[in-house]
Amino acid sequence: MKPHKQIKDWGLGLTTPLIIAGPCSAETPEQIEQICKEMKEENMVPQLFRAGIWKPRTRPGSFEGVGEEGLKWMEIVRHQLNIPITTEVGNAAHVESALKHKVDVLWIGARTTVNPFAVQEIAEALRGVDIPVMIKNPMNPDLELWMGALERMYAVGIDKLAAIHRGFSDAYDKRYRNKPNWSMPIHLKREWTGMEVINDPSHIVGRRDGLLEVAQSAMNFGLDGLMIETHHNPDKAWSDAKQQVTPNRLKEIILSIDFKTPLENMKPDERLQDLRRAVDHLDDQLLDILQERFAVIDQIGNHKREHHLTVFQSDRWKEVMESRTQKGVKKHLSEKFMKELLYCIHEESVKRQEKQLREAEPVKK
Ligand code: PEP
Ligand code: MN
Repeated sequence: MKPHKQIKDWGLGLTTPLIIAGPCSAETPEQIEQICKEMKEENMVPQLFRAGIWKPRTRPGSFEGVGEEGLKWMEIVRHQLNIPITTEVGNAAHVESALKHKVDVLWIGARTTVNPFAVQEIAEALRGVDIPVMIKNPMNPDLELWMGALERMYAVGIDKLAAIHRGFSDAYDKRYRNKPNWSMPIHLKREWTGMEVINDPSHIVGRRDGLLEVAQSAMNFGLDGLMIETHHNPDKAWSDAKQQVTPNRLKEIILSIDFKTPLENMKPDERLQDLRRAVDHLDDQLLDILQERFAVIDQIGNHKREHHLTVFQSDRWKEVMESRTQKGVKKHLSEKFMKELLYCIHEESVKRQEKQLREAEPVKK
């Protein structure tokens, strides 16, 4: 869609897959110092160092961040690791303060992305400023809201943009702190060509175990980097203690990941081209069959019209759903996929027949 500058063109020497690490929150200068020291010792220096300075907490009374003072401690990172830094901003005052302290990259948190007033306030504070901004997905799986926040930044001239998938709040599924929804970042990439999406397994899983699995899934889906909360003493962290990992564990995770090559970056080989041609051919057949199916549906619609029948008949629908789902499952198609496919086909059929009824001459009884 819109041209924007990708991570490699942010002018910070970053590449993809982009690895971002650092504590959930900056706590003390000693803490930052120790994390940097261990990252160096482990030879696990990320490309971008993260630390929250202002923490949006679900309930008041928990640690809400050290505030502007913490930005001064970021000098330690530059000095020790010589890498750029990123922090979360939630309003115009945060932006002003972050810019004053020369933070290299800003991110907007999930609780802010949901609120267009707040996003717009941040955008206004950034008008005319040349700084990359990463936008976390909103708390709820609403692609429009996510895109809207990116667009608000773009509209004020921020063209160095990336998105972060950190999962979505779910009232029922407690396996995750924030349930991943991989079709969202993929949709975003489809809607906005070239938009890179970083994965934040820490806020998705909410625990130390399971980070690797989610990070690997993100790479399998073709996401463009990882943001992993890292602390020298995770159990004693002032926020998100359960999910942070030591620099040592971070290294283990990163070394275990099988980073995939994004297909965009290479010419597909012969074998892949053959397979893709086969898929193209099958898709053509699938479309022919659908066309044929809908032609029969139209004939049924006509028949129903002539006999004054409603277009929807629940017992028939139930029978179609059950029998097709069973057949599909036998052919190793998932039940969820079969149900979604059948709903989609059935909805279209019913709409076509209803349109026929509406537009045709009434049949005399
Ligand atoms: C964070 O990165 O520490 C944070 C608060 O994340 P999120 O906005 O994804 O909850
Ligand atoms: Mn956190």
